Amino acid sequence: MYNLTDVGTIKEILARHGFHFSKSLGQNFIINPSVCPRMAAESGIDADSGVIEIGAGIGVLTAELAKLAKKVVCIELDKRLLPILGETLKDFDNIEIINQDVLKTDLAALIKEKFDGMPVCVCANLPYYITSPVIMTLLESRLPIEAITVMVQREAAQRLCARVGSRLSGAVTVAVDYYARAEKLFDVSAGSFMPAPKVDSSVIRMDIRKEPETELTDEKMFFKMVHAAFGQRRKTAANSISSGMGIPKELAARAIAECGLPPAVRAEELDMRELSQLSEKICDLLKSC
Ligand code: SAM
Repeated sequence: MYNLTDVGTIKEILARHGFHFSKSLGQNFIINPSVCPRMAAESGIDADSGVIEIGAGIGVLTAELAKLAKKVVCIELDKRLLPILGETLKDFDNIEIINQDVLKTDLAALIKEKFDGMPVCVCANLPYYITSPVIMTLLESRLPIEAITVMVQREAAQRLCARVGSRLSGAVTVAVDYYARAEKLFDVSAGSFMPAPKVDSSVIRMDIRKEPETELTDEKMFFKMVHAAFGQRRKTAANSISSGMGIPKELAARAIAECGLPPAVRAEELDMRELSQLSEKICDLLKSC
């Protein structure tokens, strides 16, 4: 079995296959030996679990997941990595690599086809250029998954795991909290990767809620309002909502007043209950216009 965190081994394998890192595919492979075993151990998987990994690289995390789970299906876009993975993961019989773009993959169909009723988790060191679309697709598609454990840039981790109603919260914080319970597991320094990225990273875990965090009559309107409210962070919620949603300022201000909120309140000061009340109120006022 290869030591996939040993720099000499990695360089030898990559050179033999004529592989060069692609910056545009976010290829920074983990070389810190403690990171992948810890990620796999803290991702909520066990011997009965199926795991979806996004981006195998040379298989360093894939191998750790395969040691703990029943089956690992990894979606890897870069076909140059396939012969390398064929070599580095040859000792495992519970790994399947799919050469596809994760953003073009029908994940619901994949889960049905590959995991046959197993509890499924996602675990990945995400290519940073697709962090948000991947996380939002995983959450919004309401896939039958238990948890999502991902390595993301430290700054993104802070926003994803922030408390709704705190300074660091944003539209993505609200979206994540609506679908999942998010927590930071641990930090990972830039030097843990080859090549080293410019920024540090963190591993976060999102446990999918069985029921959404708050009851909403109009989910689409709620997220439209949330995006508008956080769209211009320096403005008051009333101003951002009015310009972002294209509704009269008086209507936004009236909704805020009727929810018992201060006129100059900002989006980041509103918790989940207040945000949902506000969107319900805006719906009611728009209907009665
Ligand atoms: N898991 C490996 C590790 O931890 O060392 C590699 C992680 S590296 C940050 C991201 C991986 O995602 C690369 O192997 C890259 O080729 C792959 N990738 C990039 N864009 C992708 C996409 N749209 N769909 C699937 N895989 C992608």
